[in-house]
Amino acid sequence: MRVIFKTKNNDLESFLAVQRYQRIWQVNQKTILDSFKLHSGLDFNHRPLTIYVDRIDGSGHSGDIGMPMVLSFRDDQAMYDDSRLAAFLLHELAHRLLISNGIRSVRKDYGYQRNFLAHKRIDLFLYDVWVDVVGRSVASQELIREFDTTKAIFDAWQWALSKSYEERQAELAKLRKHRDAKKLRDHIK
Ligand SMILES: [Zn+2]
Repeated sequence: MRVIFKTKNNDLESFLAVQRYQRIWQVNQKTILDSFKLHSGLDFNHRPLTIYVDRIDGSGHSGDIGMPMVLSFRDDQAMYDDSRLAAFLLHELAHRLLISNGIRSVRKDYGYQRNFLAHKRIDLFLYDVWVDVVGRSVASQELIREFDTTKAIFDAWQWALSKSYEERQAELAKLRKHRDAKKLRDHIK
């Protein structure tokens, strides 16, 4: 999969952040793709993915088909370290993996329910991918950090963590089987 990192900013810190993300991707690409495949059963499609690097609140957002992903590299205090950047990249790639496989919300609003549903789905495999790519210790730190972001994200993690690996795999099997969004609505709520 071709991934292109860019920034619209014109400052050294942003250019360096682009280089850091590029390096994270180059070094870990095979591990990342293998891990997503192992834990979700899904492949990314082969369209190039453009990711903009910017100073934004939170980790970033996934974008959508034809809309670029955006990833953050710092808050107002400091630059994030590489393991945090990798964790952000994996979170947003998890959303894109589902979107590119036609597994997406049919809801039109952007409120709690939509966020809760979107994060329940990625939380079926995101922790396992984090462990493979950044290690258990960083994965656990990132999990605790996500608990503190929004109620939808916290609730989604509680839901996913209440299930065993096998139960999460069974939910994923349902998602893979019913990729059509209309059918999907009935299978995971
Ligand atoms: Zn998310």
